[in-house]
Amino acid sequence: MQNFVFQNPTRIIFGQAAEKKVGEQTSLYGSKVLLHYGGGSIKKYGTYQSVIESLEEVGLEYIELGGVKPNPRLALVKKGIELVEQEDIDFILAVGGGSVIDSAKAIAVGACYEGDVWDFFAKDITIKKAMPVGTVLTIPAAGSESSTSAVITKLTGMYKKSISSELIRPKFAIMNPELTFTLPNYQTACGAVDIMAHVMERYFTNTKNVELTDRLCEATLKTIIDNVPRVLKDNQDYAARAEIMWAGNIAHNGLLDTGRVGDWASHGIEHELSAIYDVAHGAGLAVVFPAWMNYVYQHDLARFAQFAVRVWGIDPDLKDLDWTACQGIKKTKEFFSSLGMPVSLPELEIPADKFEEMAAKCTAAGPRGNFVPLTKEDVVKIYQSVLN
Ligand code: NAP
Ligand code: FE
Repeated sequence: MQNFVFQNPTRIIFGQAAEKKVGEQTSLYGSKVLLHYGGGSIKKYGTYQSVIESLEEVGLEYIELGGVKPNPRLALVKKGIELVEQEDIDFILAVGGGSVIDSAKAIAVGACYEGDVWDFFAKDITIKKAMPVGTVLTIPAAGSESSTSAVITKLTGMYKKSISSELIRPKFAIMNPELTFTLPNYQTACGAVDIMAHVMERYFTNTKNVELTDRLCEATLKTIIDNVPRVLKDNQDYAARAEIMWAGNIAHNGLLDTGRVGDWASHGIEHELSAIYDVAHGAGLAVVFPAWMNYVYQHDLARFAQFAVRVWGIDPDLKDLDWTACQGIKKTKEFFSSLGMPVSLPELEIPADKFEEMAAKCTAAGPRGNFVPLTKEDVVKIYQSVLN
């Protein structure tokens, strides 16, 4: 195990009617709020109404900025920064999923910076200041509700890039599993894949002696594997929705990083797909992750065999570690398919003509990933491996 510092100060307010606490929580940090949301699901399903009632109850003023698209765009972030300045806003409240939360985080950084907020995404500059952000989560997936990162798409040049800083960790995350009852099965499945990917990015590590975090990763994966099929059959299964929502947070709140170094190549390889083709992040990961696994598993057969046995219950063939390792990859891919997720690029209608361009962007800063650092040629081969 490596030395580490762990601190996650995001206050989690979890359970039925939790959104009614949003006014009280927000008033701890601000008096004039930017209420940031997506394409309208919160208005359609009543979350918007509950949130504004709660804000009004404690006398908070708010200005709205809706319209965040999945794969959130830089242009709206810039509009948010302008609004914050014009209206003297001192707190950003994101009501929605990872896209809304990431857009809010980017506004929080850009509003405290003289230059172009994209500088933080394009160059390796340290974030020195950010406004406070709070969240009401409506989809378990990205884990952005208590993570240190934000991912934004710049349409000019088709870039999807991230920033990371302790300063953008939200002050609070309000998580009521009932708010997720209205998710279409496709979005539930995309979220499940992203949650699993966040765990697997950490699980496939070269760090030795990480028994506890291995076991925590395995438990989180098994919780998703058991509960997601339940909610796809019954959208309103509260117990299962609650397990998934909490697993989504655990997967990305930093706990599973403690004492180990994760990989993160698959996220990089996927971001190039969603940058150009605007596919849902989880759907892209369902294609990329098993392809990455197939490409690198021989680097550590024992770790992949452990994954197969402990996560998927494979009966190991002790004389054939390769076979055992491959069974875990096969099960992962079959599970994604069973959720209705794509496992090849044609299923996402992605052609082969931009593999070189995407791989070059993915490895622009050097080889990608830590478990097995991948060159541009490796990334091209991974894309090619999922052409059918
Ligand atoms: P999302 O893009 O925020 O939302 C996906 C869709 O789900 C939207 O169309 C949204 O509709 C809908 N939706 C959300 N809640 C709903 C509900 N309760 N009922 C019905 N529909 C609902 O999804 P996400 O997977 O959470 O976020 C994806 C983004 O996060 C990607 O850009 C990804 O790269 C990023 N990400 C960030 C991190 C991080 O730590 N920052 C980590 C991983 C991924 P409306 O727009 O109408 O609300
Ligand atoms: Fe992700």
